[in-house]
Amino acid sequence: MAARILDGKSLAAQVRTAVKREVEALSQRGIRPGLAVILAGEDPASKVYVRNKVRACEETGVRSQLFELPATVGEEALIDRILALNDDEDVHGILVQLPLPRNIDSSRVLAAVSPAKDVDAFHALNLGALLEGHPRLLPCTPAGVMRLIEHAGVPIAGAHAVVIGRSNIVGKPLSLLLLQKDATVTICHSKSRDLQDIARSADILVAAVGKAKLVKGGMVKPGACVIDVGVNRLSDGSLCGDVDFASAAEVAGWITPVPGGVGPMTIAMLLENCLRAASATK
Ligand code: NAP
Repeated sequence: MAARILDGKSLAAQVRTAVKREVEALSQRGIRPGLAVILAGEDPASKVYVRNKVRACEETGVRSQLFELPATVGEEALIDRILALNDDEDVHGILVQLPLPRNIDSSRVLAAVSPAKDVDAFHALNLGALLEGHPRLLPCTPAGVMRLIEHAGVPIAGAHAVVIGRSNIVGKPLSLLLLQKDATVTICHSKSRDLQDIARSADILVAAVGKAKLVKGGMVKPGACVIDVGVNRLSDGSLCGDVDFASAAEVAGWITPVPGGVGPMTIAMLLENCLRAASATK
């Protein structure tokens, strides 16, 4: 069996076109969505992610401001910057690029972002709203994964969804979104026993681990939908996911490539969140 490719690049382009139209309409009513991005430190991967986000904003008409701060920036200075942006009416979304420098308590910094401007949806209030089932802003990567699955018409209700990874930004919120769509959800992590058997029982298998090619074809149920969130850089400089694409694609019904799967959807969902946050100020 050759799996159907879930083309995140193409779906993200569709989302961006729709966002651009709505940004234009909103701008005509006097509200131009604005995103402030805070990058602290010199992490090369973060610089690339931030550059891509800023470029995506420019292409869709979302005004973006990038605040590049040195790795030595203090926690209080960072929080002061966020508080000023919370009060700035032209800023509808605030994104703090993670990871922050080691000396900084990320949870304290993220808690300073106004929940209404929290376009990454990492604030405890937004995560709590998601848990309750009434989210206002959705975390971008989990929302992008759901959009990919739904767009492909993969049945979710009643399906067994296995999410490998339990981070606050991907694994846990994605598990909640799948649960809200009536999947039966199993969450796996580094201490899970029998990972192979659990994975093989999944109708929807999500890998969000950060370990290159952890999921092999033998861990995939024939016909399953395999979503690869992982981004790993190999020693030759190339990118690969948490799934061994070649062997998994022979067994799966649907599969996301890396790159070109979940990554572009994450940025598309960020743009939607900026639009949503700006629209809420009308
Ligand atoms: P994270 O915070 O490091 O979490 C990794 C999770 O994987 C943890 O829950 C960990 O378990 C689990 N894990 C580690 N080794 C395992 C193993 N051998 N078997 C089963 N589970 C294992 O990572 P993250 O932030 O969620 O990101 C995961 C991956 O997605 C990374 O590659 C990241 O770069 C990528 N990512 C991509 C996007 C995108 O837009 N494409 C967005 C975000 C993240 P414990 O909890 O027990 O430690």
